[in-house]
Amino acid sequence: MYSAPKGTHDLLPEDLATWHMVENTARSVLEAANFHEIRTPVFESTELFARGVGESTDIVNKEMYSFEKGDRSLTLRPENTAGVVRAYNQHGMDRWPKPVKLYYLGPMFRYERPQAGRQRQFHQLGAELFGLDTPQADAAVILIAMQLFQKLEIPGLALEINNVGCFQCRADFREQLRQVLAPYLGELCGDCNQRYHTNPLRMLDCKNPNCKAIYQKPEVQAFLSQDNTCGECKTHFDSLLGILESLAIPYHHNRMLVRGLDYYTRTVFEITSNHLGAQNAVCGGGRYNGLVKELGGKDTPAVGWALGMERLVSLVKKVEKQAPAYYIASDDVAAALTLAQSIQAAGFATVEVDLSGKNLGKQITQANKLNAQTVLVLGESERAEGSVTIKNMQTGEQQTLPVEAFLKTLAPHSNPAAVV
Ligand code: ATP
Ligand code: MG
Repeated sequence: MYSAPKGTHDLLPEDLATWHMVENTARSVLEAANFHEIRTPVFESTELFARGVGESTDIVNKEMYSFEKGDRSLTLRPENTAGVVRAYNQHGMDRWPKPVKLYYLGPMFRYERPQAGRQRQFHQLGAELFGLDTPQADAAVILIAMQLFQKLEIPGLALEINNVGCFQCRADFREQLRQVLAPYLGELCGDCNQRYHTNPLRMLDCKNPNCKAIYQKPEVQAFLSQDNTCGECKTHFDSLLGILESLAIPYHHNRMLVRGLDYYTRTVFEITSNHLGAQNAVCGGGRYNGLVKELGGKDTPAVGWALGMERLVSLVKKVEKQAPAYYIASDDVAAALTLAQSIQAAGFATVEVDLSGKNLGKQITQANKLNAQTVLVLGESERAEGSVTIKNMQTGEQQTLPVEAFLKTLAPHSNPAAVV
């Protein structure tokens, strides 16, 4: 017997009833705001992620599943923004009416230490908006995530937000941060010592408790609490905060928030829930004005987010797997399958038909085990007169009707599972 690889999970039918509800809600919220789905390959060239996610990130340094085929190095996608941007450039989406609004949903792969809320294969839902550099676009993208969480009644949410500046002002900020942190290098972890050279902002994102404590020291906090970005970045961020306030979206300006990826400019945010364990981030995102050009396209501003489906699904009320609406009990399988087709044509109902040749009594026992709502008996006498006996399994009531008359009683979409 085999088990699923470490860090991966099977999603069983009883899990997927809830997943489908969450996915359908997400699609309806995103499509109502005119976002359209895009599906990109599960693997891309390794170089795409090295450039698009950033050479100094943990994702690229430690977490990628890469493999060689022929003379190519390929990688299972650890995230989907790089793939979406690659597709944006490849398909000339810069010629589409702006803004271009896309969403995706699918599995991502990261070689991380598995723990509660952290898998090696997990799923992300993401939204990306291309072609606008306005704080209004940032706010609209954040609002959609909030609307989705509200519809799903997610408890204990908090929006953390920060301004990491643009490529120009961040260079100064990095240099100043290096000066502030230099005295502590001896006490900081190996990763942070590395980050000090490659991307010091990412030191603030370190999960090591010792490093965390150092970054909480008054002299580090005093430096961070100043505004370290340029006038334009600051104006952008202030107007975004103003819009969030008028939309009544509460936020916390967290100056330690830098996010793991290199491509962010100005706005970065994270949405957490206090109902999750240690891995409390449900959604992360921000503005990434440099990425489209970095990946070979025209200079195009963009903003987006990605959320972890496993963490989100764990926060919603469970949906029960749907029992069949009808179980057709008959000793004539062709007659049963014909009736099943007529019912399905009338309204997408879930219909179960015995295919094992059990006698009628055993079929009804089976219908009970399956929790079928209604049993339709098509015995010899019913078949002779073109009727069907309809037995309500909850009340035990039953009546016999001509098949045509029964089919007329079926409301379209009579199976709640098919109704979104
Ligand atoms: P974390 O700080 O939890 O590692 P991250 O900054 O690496 O998150 P992003 O790359 O921004 O996460 O991904 C967005 C969301 O995807 C996260 O907020 C989280 O909900 C989810 N996510 C990321 N990595 C994993 C994982 N290994 N397993 C499950 N969900 C994940
Ligand atoms: Mg991570």
